[in-house]
Amino acid sequence: MVKHEERLIDPDAGAIVVAMTAAAAGANKRCRARTLSDAPPKWRKLARDIAAKPEGHQMFRGGRGGVPASQVLVAWWTDPVGRKHVVFRGRRVEHYEARRLLHAEELEDRLPLWHAYPEYVYRVRVGKAERVVCACGCGAAGAPEVLGWMGATCGPCSDRAEEAGADALRANAPGVLYGERHPLGAVACSPCGTFVAAVEGEHNVTLWNTTTRERHAFDFPGAQPWDVAITHDNRYLLVCGRGYAGTVTDGLWAAIDLSANPPARVKPARDTYPPAIRVLALPDGRAVLHRLNPPEMVTFADTVLVPSGEPQRTVPLPIGALGGAALSPCGTKFATAGYRTAVFDLNTGGSAGHAVLSA
Ligand SMILES: [Zn+2]
Repeated sequence: MVKHEERLIDPDAGAIVVAMTAAAAGANKRCRARTLSDAPPKWRKLARDIAAKPEGHQMFRGGRGGVPASQVLVAWWTDPVGRKHVVFRGRRVEHYEARRLLHAEELEDRLPLWHAYPEYVYRVRVGKAERVVCACGCGAAGAPEVLGWMGATCGPCSDRAEEAGADALRANAPGVLYGERHPLGAVACSPCGTFVAAVEGEHNVTLWNTTTRERHAFDFPGAQPWDVAITHDNRYLLVCGRGYAGTVTDGLWAAIDLSANPPARVKPARDTYPPAIRVLALPDGRAVLHRLNPPEMVTFADTVLVPSGEPQRTVPLPIGALGGAALSPCGTKFATAGYRTAVFDLNTGGSAGHAVLSA
């Protein structure tokens, strides 16, 4: 989790020492173990290294290994007009997935420009060839030297901001939606492109509005969201999952009304819902829940009403159908992967009459 971030242009040694002290304190905040000590002599040496090279990065970490640990990563990069951008990022490395942020080889593998401005810099690999692409919030994308890349924007945007002030770039939107400290799980996008939702950590679902950049977090204490979907009319964000009792009825169903301001969960129609590993939106406004029956580990495709989650039709699925699932664009075919891949017709489905169209 990034807890402190500061970007300075052409800082002197004194400013670098002050920024490092602040970054270490920011990374350590509210933490006791494996914290990073303030070490002004080290920071002065860092300032000399920054002055000596046009670009580079250095990592400082607390503790001798393991997580959680405080870390400060400093990256510097010189733009086409010769200004040195120095970025100080203090974070608490907490999750196993984030541990690679503490590995020197992993960090070495990335450009100083990426360390300084990771939200704008992408590596594109085609075969063995690799190139770097920067993406500006104005929509321009390409090699940094072609765009006259200036750190957070392309050259033309940087010029515009210089002439007309930062407000001139208000319509620019970076390609990153910021979350909290938790790893992301299932992701869904609304057909209109305005909403993105993701399972974040163990008990949360996060919703972003890509236009306003607003972020809403929905907490499901005592439950574990497993999947998210957004209905075809862009009206509801659907969440399915399980509770912790692991019983047949101990599941999670939530419909969040995206037309409300702020988006709000529709009051559930029932006290209990069955556990479901996937939710897929149907074109007619209903949804399909890939429902789990824990004692027998068999699964079902339930066509349910939105927003109530009331089941209308149930199709039993083959044993082991716990892999991915997909719907046909018309919404009549449901495919699931397990020991074999099978496609079902949701309209003719039912406990006895479903048809396996391919296997
Ligand atoms: Zn631009």
